[in-house]
Amino acid sequence: MTKGPQHVIVVGAGMVGLSTAWFLQAEGVRVTVVDRTGVAAGSSWGNAGWIAPALTLPLPDPAILAGGIKAMLKPSSPVYVPVTGNPRLMRFLLDFARHCTPARWRAAMTVFAEANRHALDAFDEIAAEGLVEPIKAAEPFLAAFASEKDRETLLEEFEHVRELGVDTPAELLDRAEMHTLVPALGEAVTCGVRLRDQRFINPGRFVNALADAVRSRGAEILTDVDVRDIAESPDGVRLEVAGGAPLAADAVVIATGTWLGALARGVGVTTIVQAGRGYSFTVQPEHMPVAPMYFPAQRVACTPLGDGLRVAGMMEFRKPGAPLDPRRIAAIIDAATPMLTGVDWSARTDEWVGSRPCTADGLPLIGRTKSSRVFVSGGHGMWGIALGPLSGKLLAAQVVRGETPDLLASFDPLR
Ligand SMILES: Cc1cc2nc3c(=O)[nH]c(=O)nc-3n(C[C@H](O)[C@H](O)[C@H](O)COP(=O)(O)OP(=O)(O)OC[C@H]3O[C@@H](n4cnc5c(N)ncnc54)[C@H](O)[C@@H]3O)c2cc1C
Repeated sequence: MTKGPQHVIVVGAGMVGLSTAWFLQAEGVRVTVVDRTGVAAGSSWGNAGWIAPALTLPLPDPAILAGGIKAMLKPSSPVYVPVTGNPRLMRFLLDFARHCTPARWRAAMTVFAEANRHALDAFDEIAAEGLVEPIKAAEPFLAAFASEKDRETLLEEFEHVRELGVDTPAELLDRAEMHTLVPALGEAVTCGVRLRDQRFINPGRFVNALADAVRSRGAEILTDVDVRDIAESPDGVRLEVAGGAPLAADAVVIATGTWLGALARGVGVTTIVQAGRGYSFTVQPEHMPVAPMYFPAQRVACTPLGDGLRVAGMMEFRKPGAPLDPRRIAAIIDAATPMLTGVDWSARTDEWVGSRPCTADGLPLIGRTKSSRVFVSGGHGMWGIALGPLSGKLLAAQVVRGETPDLLASFDPLR
């Protein structure tokens, strides 16, 4: 394309797609967003909503393999791999394991460090234009532990991050300080870390507010539009839609989360995007915390969402469409019970399973594909909420002005 596109279709109305739409509009482009279900229908709904640069770290990590492969085959494991002969999953897991080395973690962390430096500013840009849903300061944001040994693992991780020049704003707290700050913490909590300068949102409400903002800036959002194929036409792109008329635009952005591969393979994106399924539900603790809490050893995240405390966890490498497995919910409850007090676990509501779009090297796929009119943004794994707006901003500048700064080049979807 010699000049930037006038009209772009974004496929996928999750955090990533809608953020891209918002920044494309800021670049003066007319946008249509389409989704086969609706706004926040994918993993952008029931997640923990953390915008926490201190914890926005690459998933392939030597520590993840430390428990051993055998432990991951147990349904109660926080990282669960089913016994399967699925060759695609096996390819992903082998490649993922290859990336769980200190050197590769450092390489990915260097990219995350740069992204984290800009992630909050991209949220502020959106908020400055008026968005009804707040971005809240996470105060006090506590990581809680049953033992000093457990805490050491997180502190070591922060030390590795510090070696790359990033200081994590963290302060050590003892048992009494932890329980005074957050009375909902359970007896098992003996020490902790207080993180500063982090934020959080109610993700479902935020993504819906973003959809409203994008609409009020002139975009159309079409739901029940299942895109089956994308092809270049002489003057743009043509999208084949299941049971409907084709759609046309000057360019398209595929932002379909864990389903990215289905549409992006045809334009040269061969990296597997694997569903890393996570679960969440809501409880009503006697003492409602005002900010997120993290139990790193249990891999459980808690976030107050106004109407309750969302408890989230698990990383289950399975097909995105597989039904919710109640054993996974039970495993989260078992892990979290000693860490919280005053919770009636049987009165939980909103049980949910969603698919983190994971790549083996831990980096998202953002940018131009083999076709100069087809772009992708996806594969954000554990951090598509925190990195959604920044991804949208970077991609919009490439789509419209052809800019590829070094950070965006690290996310090259053709790598
Ligand atoms: C338990 C859990 C906790 C998490 N906590 C956090 C957190 O605290 N902070 C954070 O940053 N991230 C978190 N994440 C990760 C985050 O939720 C994801 O990275 C993010 O939501 C991905 O957004 P997305 O827009 O790429 O994908 P999605 O939200 O999945 O959106 C993709 C959309 O594409 C649509 N679609 C797919 N295929 C088609 C098609 N062919 N045609 C039309 N539409 C299509 C789908 O319907 C869907 O609406 C968590 C995830 C889980 C599961």
